Amino acid sequence: TPHQKIALVTGANKGIGRAAADQLAALGMTVLIGVREPRRGEEAAATLRASGGDVHAVTLDVTDQAIVRAAARWVGERFGHLDVLINNAGITGSGNVSPEHAHDQIPSSVDLDMVRAVFETNVFGVIAVTNAMLPLLRRSPAPRIVNVSSHAASLTLTSDPDGPFAALLPSAAYTPSKSALSALTVQYANELRKDGILVNAAAPGYVDTDSNNHTGHLTPAQGATVLVRLATLGADGPTGGFFSVDGPLPW
Ligand code: NDP
Repeated sequence: TPHQKIALVTGANKGIGRAAADQLAALGMTVLIGVREPRRGEEAAATLRASGGDVHAVTLDVTDQAIVRAAARWVGERFGHLDVLINNAGITGSGNVSPEHAHDQIPSSVDLDMVRAVFETNVFGVIAVTNAMLPLLRRSPAPRIVNVSSHAASLTLTSDPDGPFAALLPSAAYTPSKSALSALTVQYANELRKDGILVNAAAPGYVDTDSNNHTGHLTPAQGATVLVRLATLGADGPTGGFFSVDGPLPW
């Protein structure tokens, strides 16, 4: 039987992750949507299946080691391998507010517990999920890992005092968590290059989702395009890179 590609997208009951799941399913992959809350996950999976895709919900809170391990076990038992992992789950730390309007992220007055919570999901959660899924990814002929970062993660862009990103409200939580995710992307890529596992970071752009109270100007489908492109790279594709839909971004 031909190899059926299996993709896992974390935080995929809504927003950019859900749009990426929809697009991967349309390409013929079996898509597992990682969700914190099973009931909302089953609803999202049913809606995505209604448009023809093979989509299943898997309970996956990325901050819970036991749940992460159970999810990996379930994927292994049910499918035997994993081809694509998109680490999309993320929080701003400020609720449904865009980082640039979130005054509680300001470095000099930030709440350290909030910083910890943001790193727990956006950074440590990625390590937990990636390491739990790696044995399954190694059983794929062409494994791909995509970490969902942000333009705001770019130290090059944000450290230019004359550039548009210096005008964003300073953040000691969300923005550095995404810079750390970018750094992790490079380290994983370096470790896994010899194994043919391509690991890249994606910046979706400013997308209309709950995370920014729907102030973004791109649709979730537009934001998901770069995730899907990096999830479907050919064998000669890049690894350890950072990309928007328009091409490479500076770290
Ligand atoms: P949403 O808030 O719409 O979706 C975030 C998803 O992550 C939800 O499904 C949420 O689940 C899930 N999630 C949060 N915490 C956890 C956790 N601990 N375990 C598992 N899932 C979790 O946001 P977006 O779609 O906008 O964000 C998706 C990614 O894109 C994030 O990493 C975000 O930082 C990034 N991004 C978004 C941009 C934008 O403009 N929207 C710009 C740059 C990057 P639940 O529904 O249960 O809360």
